[in-house]
Amino acid sequence: MEYLIYAGITVLTFLLMEGVTWCTHKFVMHGLLWYLHEDHHQPKYQGIFEKNDAFFVIFAIPSILLFYFGVNPEINGLLFVGLGILFYGIAYFLVHDVLIHRRFKWFDNVKNPYLVGLRKAHKVHHKHLGKEDGECFGMLYVPKKYFQPVGK
Ligand SMILES: [Zn+2]
Ligand SMILES: [Zn+2]
Ligand SMILES: [Zn+2]
Repeated sequence: MEYLIYAGITVLTFLLMEGVTWCTHKFVMHGLLWYLHEDHHQPKYQGIFEKNDAFFVIFAIPSILLFYFGVNPEINGLLFVGLGILFYGIAYFLVHDVLIHRRFKWFDNVKNPYLVGLRKAHKVHHKHLGKEDGECFGMLYVPKKYFQPVGK
């Protein structure tokens, strides 16, 4: 029974992270910390790292703290919150940095309508080169209008 609760905590955290990401992207990355996100909105950024990668470090901090307090003095729910954040971070990286921005050429022949729609939605986000009036701040949740039958 305990395991089910723990797994539930991880799944719930993962889902909540999409909302957290949306808010962070909209209000922090396109707000106070725009100077870190700005290079990500330039059409051609060079180099392996961009300033935007700082957000991976920022999101890793709560995760590391949760891992620490999640096993001290014994395993507790916090560990599974930390796992949810970690899994979301991995999914975000695979989808945003690899699938969409092609930082690694791992998935070059994606035909899955969900993934194609997701990529389309984020391209719309990148149409805006500036800080103001963006759209599609989420990542894994894709509004329905971006889905089209494959082949169109
Ligand atoms: Zn943005
Ligand atoms: Zn992007
Ligand atoms: Zn972006």
